[in-house]
Amino acid sequence: MKKKLALILAGVLAVSSLSGCTSKETPKDEGATPNATATESAQPEEPSGNMSADIVVIGAGGAGMTAAIQATQDGATNVVIVEKMPQTGGNTTYATGGLNASETKYQKAQGIEDSNELFYEDTMKGGKNINDPDLVHTLVDNSSAAVDWVNSIGGDLSVVAMFAGASVERIHRPSDTSAVGPMLVKTFNKQLEKLDIPVLLNTTAEQIVVDKDGGITGVKVKDAEGEKTIDCKAVIDATGGFGANMEMVMQYQPDLEGFGTTNQSGATGDGIKMATAIGAATVDMEQIQIHPTVDPVTHTLYTEGVRGNGAILVNSDGKRFVNELETRDVVSAAILEQPNAYAYMIFDEDVRKSLSAIEKYVSAGLVIEADTIKGLAEKIDVDAKTLEKTMKTYAAYQKAGSDKEFGRADMPLPLTKKKFYAVKCSPAIHHTMGGLKINTSAEVLNEEKNPIPGLFAAGEVTGGVHGANRLGGNAVADIVVFGRIAGTSAEKYVKDHGGNTEPTIKAPQKETEEQATPEVQGNYKDGTYTGTGTGNNGEIKVEVTVADGNITKIDVTEQQETEGIYESAEAGVLSAIIKTQKTEVDTVSGATHSSQGLMEAVRNALQEAVK
Ligand code: ADP
Repeated sequence: MKKKLALILAGVLAVSSLSGCTSKETPKDEGATPNATATESAQPEEPSGNMSADIVVIGAGGAGMTAAIQATQDGATNVVIVEKMPQTGGNTTYATGGLNASETKYQKAQGIEDSNELFYEDTMKGGKNINDPDLVHTLVDNSSAAVDWVNSIGGDLSVVAMFAGASVERIHRPSDTSAVGPMLVKTFNKQLEKLDIPVLLNTTAEQIVVDKDGGITGVKVKDAEGEKTIDCKAVIDATGGFGANMEMVMQYQPDLEGFGTTNQSGATGDGIKMATAIGAATVDMEQIQIHPTVDPVTHTLYTEGVRGNGAILVNSDGKRFVNELETRDVVSAAILEQPNAYAYMIFDEDVRKSLSAIEKYVSAGLVIEADTIKGLAEKIDVDAKTLEKTMKTYAAYQKAGSDKEFGRADMPLPLTKKKFYAVKCSPAIHHTMGGLKINTSAEVLNEEKNPIPGLFAAGEVTGGVHGANRLGGNAVADIVVFGRIAGTSAEKYVKDHGGNTEPTIKAPQKETEEQATPEVQGNYKDGTYTGTGTGNNGEIKVEVTVADGNITKIDVTEQQETEGIYESAEAGVLSAIIKTQKTEVDTVSGATHSSQGLMEAVRNALQEAVK
């Protein structure tokens, strides 16, 4: 990746100098080139020698990618995304559930009666009524349009299902039962490419630069080559939450010491720190959600869809102890009260068939299976008679349509079809509900509740939408609804403050392909080449053999990817590369980071093979 990035940046800098910038250094953080007000930015400015864009989006997760796409659709011509990880996607890649939306065309087609008001009430109730009511109204009122927008750029959210905390079927998912996150990330990536929006990977934003009046002038970033500043008029902070930053978690919730996290390693709260450093206010920082059903060892998250589609929870005595469809905080608290603070999620063949996410858990070796309930009980060390009784009682409740013990409303299946399955789970840190204070235009507010000119934020970096507890399906709704609003607001801000300008930073994907990777069959020098890429857990090394100008063989010589998940990426990606003779192929759903790491390793290996 380093080599590739060097090429990208060389290209970027070449473009900058071609566009007439001088190499004179201007320390933006000392306020030399104010872009803050209409009057100031209307004045011709000294070229700074820095890179420049109209809007810098920090973070290429769901919110950032949505914002960049929407801003560009609205007319922005010079948007750049900086992303500190080697790939786009952030935590959004791990979103398995779906997107909550009310009054949608899909609900109507399926005869589901829902309303924005009911969605509002469920979200407020789930959030213990501390949510910001204006933000929640904005979320629900724009949710149906969010589904339409995802459709309009090629995403599929056509299946509507039940999810914890929702009064009616409201969560929208891909029709092939696949996880929503990878589908969205793939859709967004394609759109970014189509719209020529550059994404600078391995580029960490370190500081939002302001002039002496507090007006935004740029973003200081660090990449493999060092530090540089991207001058800009507006910044969209879409850096996600801080669930992977234990120090920060402990600062706000010392009780969570020792908890695991479901978050990707980039979720470290950088965007909160950068924005508060220039006066942004925060809200609800102590509201940190733990997800109830997480594997205690690997921290793999078992989507609520498993319970939504029928699974129940039992404790180590083999007894149910909670309405499984209660909100995350209630179910988490109930699990923590059980002996040894863990539970087993139990389901049958019909549930397994209903959700492809389960296959990922099976291939990761996390699912215990047996032909009978008795056999399953023995494998998980639970009293067989008690578990059999629990399952029989539940089947009777399901048949009668009434859960006498725990009041579970939706019991889609009796759980009587062999085989039977169990996964162990305990709660882990999942979502940080608190964050930057924004208004309904996604403007970041200061302590006096006034917008900081030019600073916008969307997604998990913000606070107030989810209150004290986020409902499953509302994070994806949040990133699309507020990502779009942030994009629209930032574009409008740019228009009002000097207008859109010609892009000077080129989309690196193109730069890389043109310069480094011939994609035509038979265009490589014969030989064996080695290359390295970054996967989910670290480096992936490959050895690529080229014969008669074609890639004929790829051996993975080193990798530390997650067993059970990685294999499908290796099989899918490597065979696709050999088949297409291209190094950009579809990622394997559920193994996005491993897939991207493999492609990157092959690409790097082939740099030496260019004729
Ligand atoms: P959301 O769901 O709000 O979009 P995600 O976690 O999906 O949040 O995405 C946030 C993205 O921001 C991640 O890809 C993360 O790596 C990236 N990010 C976090 N901090 C920085 C930073 N300082 N510079 C660049 N990118 C960052």
